[in-house]
Amino acid sequence: MNFNEHLIFLISSIFFIKNYGFFKYLSKEEWVYLYIGGILTFSLPDIDHPNSFIGSKIKFISKLINKKIGHRKFTHSLLILIILNYYFKKIVNLYFTSNSLYYGMIIGYITHIILDLFTPMGVEILWPLNFKFKISIYYFIKIIKYIIIMLLYLLLIFLILKLNVYYIRNRSWI
Ligand SMILES: [Zn+2]
Repeated sequence: MNFNEHLIFLISSIFFIKNYGFFKYLSKEEWVYLYIGGILTFSLPDIDHPNSFIGSKIKFISKLINKKIGHRKFTHSLLILIILNYYFKKIVNLYFTSNSLYYGMIIGYITHIILDLFTPMGVEILWPLNFKFKISIYYFIKIIKYIIIMLLYLLLIFLILKLNVYYIRNRSWI
């Protein structure tokens, strides 16, 4: 996924969170901090790719991570999320009394990983264990198709039972 796709997903995720009642107690100013936090971190995981927006700005570090570890591994893992969670909170608490900037930073980072899960390459969330996780849209469509077929079967069984009851009661189909 590219920079713009991640940005759109971040903005719509925060918009969704806001409109569906999460963090109800936040003031307008805190919402702004939530957006700022997200914008600060949403592209950060791609530091492991030299051609990404952030990777191209610090090519040397990016190439090093890419060569030593690879793409969508350490920087897209739960491990880095745990480490960053600690530091994001610590840094934000040094300068702000509210945690909204910190929440935004975590949301930004997580939305990036979630969106990358929809790519065919997948993400090694449990890195250093090398299991690839991916969500296939095709798989989702298949599940929905099965659910619809199951519901139609249930409807059919229901109609047959109802007709049977009708027949038993009236000794006639009509
Ligand atoms: Zn990525």
